[in-house]
Amino acid sequence: MSNSLAQQLARPELLAMTPYQSARRIGGSGDIWLNANESPFAETEPSYNRYPEFQPDALIENYSRYSQLTPEQVLASRGADEAIELLIRTFCIPGQDSITICTPTYGMYAISAATCNVAVNTVPLTDSWELDPQLTDKLNGSKLLFICNPNNPTGSTLTPQQLEPIVAKLSQQCIVVVDEAYIEFSPELSMASLIKQYPNLVVLRTLSKAFALAGLRCGFMLANQGIIELAKKVIAPYPIPAPVAEIASERLTEAGVQIMKEHVAELNQLAAKFKEQVSVLEGVSNVYSSGANFILIRFNDQRWFNALGEAGIVVRNQSNVATLENCLRFSIGSRSEMKRLIETLQQIAKQQAA
Ligand SMILES: *Cc1c(COP(=O)(O)O)cnc(C)c1O
Repeated sequence: MSNSLAQQLARPELLAMTPYQSARRIGGSGDIWLNANESPFAETEPSYNRYPEFQPDALIENYSRYSQLTPEQVLASRGADEAIELLIRTFCIPGQDSITICTPTYGMYAISAATCNVAVNTVPLTDSWELDPQLTDKLNGSKLLFICNPNNPTGSTLTPQQLEPIVAKLSQQCIVVVDEAYIEFSPELSMASLIKQYPNLVVLRTLSKAFALAGLRCGFMLANQGIIELAKKVIAPYPIPAPVAEIASERLTEAGVQIMKEHVAELNQLAAKFKEQVSVLEGVSNVYSSGANFILIRFNDQRWFNALGEAGIVVRNQSNVATLENCLRFSIGSRSEMKRLIETLQQIAKQQAA
């Protein structure tokens, strides 16, 4: 039964609740639409005087084709960030339930939990950034386990062979949320094809990274229908603006996906070259392997971040994160940006050696 675990774990008040019946959701047929207090003045082309579809058909259809799932297994959201919050609001009772995260990882799981008064149970990654071998025994009753793969900010990766036994073991007790924001850079690691098999598996996706649409704010929750239906009770009545759906649908056609793949191939190449060039520099202690479009590098001290800043290059300082002392996270930019970055790093290395 794909619904039973989701219903067992959901906040009980949601089960009986009927979602807000927006005019669009109720629908209807006719040629005069006077049911949603919209304006009749369609001034622009395309016009935006009407509310958008609750889950725009073309968008859901195109993403389900891309992810090889059914439309019932796809929910579009205002970025993956909104999907994270939706999951917490759907399953976690404030002041009572908890989520589990494996640190260091993406910061929004803990922030979203905190804003919902939901506790965060932390099970740190090992020194080599693998999952704690006893992870499934350390959940303290959490309803949601967040695993980011490839992981931000470490770039480290887990294989489906490593993840599936965890999902299987927790199939009666906990929803495993695999955040695949960067999966296009390591597509072979995706868990999406296992959704059919596991009612407790959720995969999060976004158009913000490989699809080059961060400004659009469009993400997806992939899961069995039981979970998607519950999240549809919690999400806003018109979550996807019409222009967003139009642009996103276009970029999710076969031609759009092909362009994304070409960009990914180029960025992966640039990442490999950068890794090679930066590894030989004096003062670079560790260049971590990454399955994403960024590379985490540990330096010998704090001066690198400031020197880069003085050269006008802005990177993400991770030094304040536990176990990431002297680590900087570099996004992979364009060819010319990476050229200037490596030249600047070479210069800093030289100055520090002098
Ligand atoms: C960027 C990122 C997100 C947020 O994605 P949006 O769709 O832009 O909200 C979620 N998870 C991880 C791991 C990210 O790095």
